[in-house]
Formats: sequence, C-alpha cells, structure tokens
Amino acid sequence: MNCPSCDSSHNRKNGKKRGKQNYICVGCGRQFIDKYEPSRTYSNEIKEECLKMYLNGMGFRGIERVKGVHHTTIISWVKQLGKTMVDVPSKDVNQGELVGDRNIPSVGELDELETFVGSKKIKSGCGQQ
Ligand SMILES: [Zn+2]
Repeated sequence: MNCPSCDSSHNRKNGKKRGKQNYICVGCGRQFIDKYEPSRTYSNEIKEECLKMYLNGMGFRGIERVKGVHHTTIISWVKQLGKTMVDVPSKDVNQGELVGDRNIPSVGELDELETFVGSKKIKSGCGQQ
C-alpha cells in the first residue's frame, strides 16, 4: 500500500472511514484509503475476451477457470454491457447474431461500449491514478 502522493510505503493506519481502512502517509501526511477492489483492473482485451466467451454461451465459472478472472468481475462486466445496450440504438441489428430474441452486439460494438463504460468510470472519479 503506497501513498498516492509520494509513492512512499512508509505509512500507518489512521482509523476507519465507512468501514474502509484509512491510512496516513508518514512522509507527506496525505491520508488515503486502502481500496478494496473486487474487480481489479483488467485490460480491455481480457474483458472483451471474457464477454465474447459469455456471449458464446460459456458460464461465468467456466470463463473464470479459463481466464483467471473472478466470476463476479465477469458478471459486473455483463451487467455493464446490459445497461449500456439499453441505450444502443438497434440500427446495427444485421451485424449482431440473434440468439433467442436477444441481440448480441458485434465485436465492433463491444469496442464502443468499452469506451463508453471507461468514460463513465472516469467521471465517477473512483480511481486515484
Ligand atoms: Zn506520501
């Protein structure tokens, strides 16, 4: 756990905030929280591959075994995808495969969704980097 300001690992515990361990940097006095991130950051490639596997009918646990990505992380990606798809106009229907009555986005659309989800994350400002 390094200080986000000066990258020093010399810090000590400083109580808890909203159930999260708070730290204070001994070097610069900066306070920061030990972030517990169940969905640690994966590259877009891995995320896309996992989503593709899901869209091809693989189960979350199966993907977890193959890709080493925790299934709850994959589920959250799929949920993000589902939310985003509500806003996606159906003009590109011919590019997707029709499975049941659900339109599966093409890879190109996935890229766009990536960007969309990514910019959403930045806006919410949950990262220190
Ligand atoms: Zn510091």
